[in-house]
Amino acid sequence: MHHVKQLINGQFVDSNTSEWIDITDPATQEVIAKVPQTTDDEINQAVAAAQKAFQTWRKTPITTRARIFLRYQALIRDHMDELAEILTAEQGKTIADARGDVFRGLEVVEHAAGIANLQIGDFVENVASGVDTYSIWQPLGVCAGITPFNFPAMIPLWMFPMAIATGNTFILKPSEQDPMVTMRLVELAVEAGVPEGVLNVVHGGKATVDAICDHPDIKAVSFVGSTNVGKHVYERASQSGKRAQCMMGAKNHGVILPDANKEQTLNQLAGAAFGAAGQRCMALSVVVLVGAAGEWIDDIKAKAEGLIVSAGKHDKDLGPLISPAAKARVEHLIGTGVEEGASLILDGRGITVEGYEKGNFVGPTIFDNVTSDMQIYQQEIFGPVLCIMRANSLDEAIELLNANPHGNGTAIFTQSGAAAHKFQQDIQVGQIGINLPIPVPLPMFSFSGSRASKLGDLGPYGKQAVQFYTQTKTVTARWFDDEASRGVNTTISI
Ligand code: NAD
Repeated sequence: MHHVKQLINGQFVDSNTSEWIDITDPATQEVIAKVPQTTDDEINQAVAAAQKAFQTWRKTPITTRARIFLRYQALIRDHMDELAEILTAEQGKTIADARGDVFRGLEVVEHAAGIANLQIGDFVENVASGVDTYSIWQPLGVCAGITPFNFPAMIPLWMFPMAIATGNTFILKPSEQDPMVTMRLVELAVEAGVPEGVLNVVHGGKATVDAICDHPDIKAVSFVGSTNVGKHVYERASQSGKRAQCMMGAKNHGVILPDANKEQTLNQLAGAAFGAAGQRCMALSVVVLVGAAGEWIDDIKAKAEGLIVSAGKHDKDLGPLISPAAKARVEHLIGTGVEEGASLILDGRGITVEGYEKGNFVGPTIFDNVTSDMQIYQQEIFGPVLCIMRANSLDEAIELLNANPHGNGTAIFTQSGAAAHKFQQDIQVGQIGINLPIPVPLPMFSFSGSRASKLGDLGPYGKQAVQFYTQTKTVTARWFDDEASRGVNTTISI
């Protein structure tokens, strides 16, 4: 049985713990490895190693730091097939989707390789006579990242490359449900030249997360995961004086106007609602059909029925959910939808996939006539379940969306520039797609979920991550060019 290792001070080491968590293949329930609940002592060792490494890493030339990420991006490309295979085995998503998971992280690594152009401060000459002020963006120290199960490649890569490139050292805590592809990416980072102690990995669940939040030598915590845990992390980390950012749960609505390009819209909707079995924080889990678009119900259903559910390695359309518990929760929520009076027009419960009878499969599921007081609307289902709602006008749709607390993503489908512009201006959601269902920005921007989907001001990659992982220092300097004394001045200068 493979035991997942920790990375402490440049060494991949076994844990001394007596507590091990099973990693299972979600298509078969086969236990494929075990991951440790890292001990307190091991967490302290990792932080101490990171603290020590920071003393030299922060003074390492920025160009040296950048070049590591040039090598790293090449290594990730070279290992793309292997990474996708590991990811699919432990997470369940299709191979093509797993490659996408790795690729979207790779883009952040490429961005980190340009750090010398990103971590540039400001300079103003002659703020007073003969006086200049400049700002420098210095690393914070030891930073930490806590990641969810649903993007085990992309989300760790949102975090440690930017943190390390800006001169910090890092403690990563991957999801205990699928840490193996994350560990392979970490091995490649070490191979690319990340020095000992600069990147460390500890494992486990709540105990490790709480220890990270409390540790006095950790200066910042980046978290991605569910809303309840994110709130807990934000409060606990902030209370111990840390900078914190938490990207959390969502309920993303697609708004379809009757003038939308029908075939394109239906295809995009089906992909975004059911892809990755709905386990994406940017999944479109609610669709609001405006006016005559309400007649597209049968077409939406037909698209969903055409999707094939199978083990991820067969690369069909949808894989299994991450765990039996996740499957039970999704099926329970579908049950509440029926009880609360929504019309279940496609039921994905109880499907069997030949050869994978024990897999955590739920097929595409669609509810019509959903209202905002129902559990299936109020909760993030995180499964392949689409809720359909109606609105008489764009204004009514905007009002509905803005009344929902979440602000991760949304999309409008229309041929009208004026309608799209109104939507973009009035909608209170941080990431908007126009005829595009999952508008996650590339790293030249930053992930910009908002309202209940986020705590903290700054996003996890891109320009905002450079700010998150640095402290601005300003220097105001005067260099005397003559000996003339101006005498003692006891007033504030004007
Ligand atoms: P999760 O909150 O259960 O786990 C996230 C991390 O927190 C894991 O590392 C886990 O070990 C740890 N954790 C779990 N329970 C904890 C507890 N009680 N106390 C402290 N730490 C705990 O999330 P998940 O199920 O792995 O991921 C799915 C969730 O993540 C969804 O809600 C999804 O919307 C969200 N997500 C959000 C974004 C975003 O950018 N907004 C991106 C991806 C996923």
